[in-house]
Amino acid sequence: MKIARVAIDVPVPKLFDYHAEGLGPGDIGQRVLVPLGNRNVVGIVVAVDIDSAVAPERLKRVRRVLREVPALSPCDLDLLRFAAAYYHHPLGAAVMAALPGALRRARLSRDRAALGYLVTPEGERANLDTLPRRATVQRRLLAALKHQRELSWDALRSAAGPKAGVAVKQLIMRGWVRSEQRADAPAQAPRSPTVAGGPALTPEQIQATGTIAASFGRFGAFVLLGVTGSGKTEVYLHAIAAVLRAGGQALLLVPEIVLTPQLEALIHSRFPDTVVATLHSRLSEAERLQHWRAAQDARAGVVLGTRLAVFAPIPKLALIIVDEEHDLSFKQMDALRYSARDLAVVRAKQMHVPVVLGSATPALETYHNAVSSRYRLLHLTKRVGAVMPQIECINTHGEHLVDGLSQPLLQAIAARLGGHEQSLVFINRRGYAPVLMCRACGWLSACHRCTAQLVLHVADHRLHCHHCGAQASVPVACPDCGNQDLAPLGQGTQRVEVALARQFPAARIMRVDRDSTRRKDMWPTVRQRIQAREIDILVGTQILAKGHDFPHLSLVGVLNADSLLYSTDFRAPERLYALLTQVAGRAGRGDKRGEVMIQTEFPRHPLYEALRRQDYASFAAAALTERRQAGFPPFVHQALLRAEAARLETSLAFLDDAARAGRALSQHVVIYDPVPAGMVRRAGRERAQLLVQAASRSRLREFLGKWYERLSAAPSTRARWSLDVDPVEF
Ligand code: ADP
Ligand code: ZN
Ligand code: ZN
Repeated sequence: MKIARVAIDVPVPKLFDYHAEGLGPGDIGQRVLVPLGNRNVVGIVVAVDIDSAVAPERLKRVRRVLREVPALSPCDLDLLRFAAAYYHHPLGAAVMAALPGALRRARLSRDRAALGYLVTPEGERANLDTLPRRATVQRRLLAALKHQRELSWDALRSAAGPKAGVAVKQLIMRGWVRSEQRADAPAQAPRSPTVAGGPALTPEQIQATGTIAASFGRFGAFVLLGVTGSGKTEVYLHAIAAVLRAGGQALLLVPEIVLTPQLEALIHSRFPDTVVATLHSRLSEAERLQHWRAAQDARAGVVLGTRLAVFAPIPKLALIIVDEEHDLSFKQMDALRYSARDLAVVRAKQMHVPVVLGSATPALETYHNAVSSRYRLLHLTKRVGAVMPQIECINTHGEHLVDGLSQPLLQAIAARLGGHEQSLVFINRRGYAPVLMCRACGWLSACHRCTAQLVLHVADHRLHCHHCGAQASVPVACPDCGNQDLAPLGQGTQRVEVALARQFPAARIMRVDRDSTRRKDMWPTVRQRIQAREIDILVGTQILAKGHDFPHLSLVGVLNADSLLYSTDFRAPERLYALLTQVAGRAGRGDKRGEVMIQTEFPRHPLYEALRRQDYASFAAAALTERRQAGFPPFVHQALLRAEAARLETSLAFLDDAARAGRALSQHVVIYDPVPAGMVRRAGRERAQLLVQAASRSRLREFLGKWYERLSAAPSTRARWSLDVDPVEF
């Protein structure tokens, strides 16, 4: 008897067995179509066995082996197995979520990009007068095809615009046009890829690149700690060049998709004949599949992507780089709650390759691994071709601020305007004002579905909830007392933009936040306008803080930083330090020294002191000492059981039961009492959480395994729950 053990996307931690006579050991990792209940679903064969716990007569048959795409390799499956086990998520769900959407369905939609379109003999003879008069697109297409004989889908699109799809279908139905599979792109990566240009490396860059390259062929974890503007990218590029020369593939993970076009262009220009496969959530399904395939058959020398790319099949993987490794977006916050940075290290270990974690402000977990010699620390201490910006604090305690702006900051901006230099005003809140208040009774605009305030936006003059998307119109009078004197409280980007326009009527001001860059093609235009000096003052959120190089920007002002200083989240200071370092790093990338002004009521706070000296090491050492004393990660290991239900009591009651069950399972973990979540209500659901902690990772894993099984076995109909291992948000 031959049994296929199949991973299917179901919410229970179990695999499904099927008869599979035609299946060989080479089909492990292959997609199959199998019956499940009364439908057919796609799954992945994760093992082939001769035995099953299910009685043979009750086993169903694999309907079809879907061999259009090569099987996942044992290494690919190993990583997914690890992730499912470590994060306690059903393997089937993890495996299927890692596949491009197109591969989760049985039939691959014929990919238009891979087709060529030709005129048939009937089409050549066709009488165009029989076409309807309005069918101009069809006429245009037919003419173009007759002229060129064969056209790709892209060429058709550019000949006929967005209506090309419908028009081609109509022509095919008339029998005038047909499509055929075009020959695939060359399957082989270039043997000795060209490496073009780039500056000569600094001694520090040479040292770092050399150390990484010396580890090729075996596992090694490197922390590239480089101040902003120290040229970490060049180190990546040179390490990648060495990989490509040896015929290998490199995986480069980046946090934000807005950063990739720039980086992608740079990689293309340095490695002109290397295929670069980008993988991120904004690709169309067809593109995603195409790029994933290019990685899988080793045509792509470089795989560049966001967190999900950590699962991409890369058979000749020789190097993994995680840029801005401290960034929160590497952690997935739902379903399989994995950290792509941590999985990158696991994958590097499994594949015996080096992994580089780059940042100016590594996560304290990462830095701790570096100073305790588990990882190797590589330093880039100097900016290339520019000096570090000067950082100063403006004491706003008791100061009169104009819409949140202090006099010294306004004067500094005025000076930049005079000198034709650019300024950036950073505030980490979008909208006009974070809340609307009644001056008579203190009523605050609140979202009725979340424990959060509604933010006033001026563009549509409405109140928005930034957590659930709810909207409301601005009331003319206070709903509680009827008073008409309602005032916006606090500042958001829109209000700062308005205030700056009032202060500097002649200045060209641009606001950059999620509201202003919603369209995905906006960002390149924004960047060009900044670089072409069509903008004098930028107002923006952290979207502006990341990785962009603006040579004419010499002043950065930071508003409202203190709000993160005394948060209840023990990671808040670390985040604030990273954020401010990144924002400050935007200043003075050209030949003028940059200046950074942080408005704060606590200018003597140690965090700001360290920041002013740009002394990450001393900040990190102090923060780690605090964490050790307080018993926080990385000195303990944590997991969070989250629950949500229509009512808070239900969530808490579920967690109470879970805590009791957990305490009976192990004495080696600390199980805290259930508490309401930081934001209790969100989108109408009430949430609570239960923290579990252990001094050793393996003890925690062992406990979580048993606990998770127990929780899954007795499905709760009362609350929806999930387990978050190594949580980063509470
Ligand atoms: P980081 O990512 O460390 O903040 P970048 O990689 O963006 O820094 O580099 C900062 C700037 O320095 C970029 O404009 C880059 O082109 C330039 N640069 C990097 N290395 C060198 C070098 N060795 N010589 C000259 N310029 C360099
Ligand atoms: Zn009122
Ligand atoms: Zn809401």
